[in-house]
Formats: sequence, structure tokens, C-alpha cells
Amino acid sequence: MMTLVVATRNAGKLKEIRRLLEAEGISVLGMDSFPDAPEVDEDGDSFAANALKKARAIARFTGMPCLADDSGLAVDALQGRPGVHSARFAGVDADDHRNNCQLLREMDQVPENRRQAAFCCVMALCLPGAPPRLFEGRVEGRILRQERGDGGFGYDPLFWLPEFACTMAELPLDVKNRISHRGQALRLVVESLSSLQR
Ligand code: IMP
Repeated sequence: MMTLVVATRNAGKLKEIRRLLEAEGISVLGMDSFPDAPEVDEDGDSFAANALKKARAIARFTGMPCLADDSGLAVDALQGRPGVHSARFAGVDADDHRNNCQLLREMDQVPENRRQAAFCCVMALCLPGAPPRLFEGRVEGRILRQERGDGGFGYDPLFWLPEFACTMAELPLDVKNRISHRGQALRLVVESLSSLQR
């Protein structure tokens, strides 16, 4: 069985990635297995740059196959913000609740027909002896005026999915993984890994 190190300290992301990869027979090690691993500064100006930086640093440190995810919310009415700053939208010590409050505040004056947004994800895969590869996923939705649901993490309770008539936080994990930006990118990772094993 293949083992991948997943370079994230975000418990919500790790749970989603682990569920999907383990169902495909790929075992996952989180950063808790590497307490001395370096903290990687996510200072790139794109999801791809940050994902690559994390995957490269952790692959170098562990010497193992490594997968990193950089993802976030891009809101049309905010010209694509918070984007790569999604985790720190309300400041360096922000948590999900404060980020959601910040988003609601900034969207306060935005009318219903201008509340489109997308979750974006770029995964970087570093395998020993091979150039890194990137995989992308994206899901479209709208920003609500109040939170709904207690599943998922991050901006999920504010992210309305018209075709499901619920928020991302109201979907069971397996359904979120089927449609989400992260699930889409992960399925491309799995396809790429299985083509290598053929
Ligand atoms: P990263 O660790 O810099 O990639 O931070 C990603 C941030 O984007 C998270 O902290 C969340 O705020 C947001 N985000 C990414 N993916 C999701 C998701 O699936 N649901 C909700 N928020 C997400």
C-alpha cells in the first residue's frame, strides 16, 4: 500500500483528504507524525505557489511521497479575496468564526445577485525522483447572510450550493468530497498515482 505524507496542519482538510485517499487504498500520514517538521510560510501569491512550496519542503524533510493542498475562497464582489489569505482573512490569529464574521461584514452591502463565489484548491504532489505535479479543483456557489450547518470547516456554513439547496456545511462528508474543490483535485491525484502503478 502506498503511503503519502499530507502537508497540512488544518484538521478539517486532513479529515477530508484522509477519508478520500484511504477509500482508494492509500494510507495517509499527517504532520502530527512529524513533530519536528519545519513550519512553511504560505507567502506565495497563488494557490499553486503555496501548495508547491509546502509539498517540496515536507518531501525534502521526510524523504517520503508528499501531497500539499492550498485552497481558499474567491468572492467575485471582493475581486477574488480572501483568496490565498482565506485562513487569515480576519488577521493572523483568526479562526473560522472570526473569518466568517469578517466575510459577512465585507459582504453586508452586496445584493443577492452579486454574491457569487468559488472554493478553489490546488494540490501539489512530490514523489521522490520526479518533478512535482499540480492538480486543481473548483466549485461555484453563493455567500449567504448567516451561517447554516455545522459540518465541514472554514467558510462552509456560509457557502450555498444552489444545485443541492443547502450549504457546504450541511452536506455529509462523503457528499462534500464528491463535489468539492478538494475532492475534484484529489481524484486527479488518485488517477495520476494509479497510472504510475500500471
Ligand atoms: P490554507 O491552509 O492556507 O490552504 O487555508 C485554507 C483556508 O481556506 C481555510 O482555513 C479555510 O478558511 C478556507 N477553505 C479552504 N477549503 C475550504 C473548504 O473546503 N471549506 C471551507 N473553507 C475552506
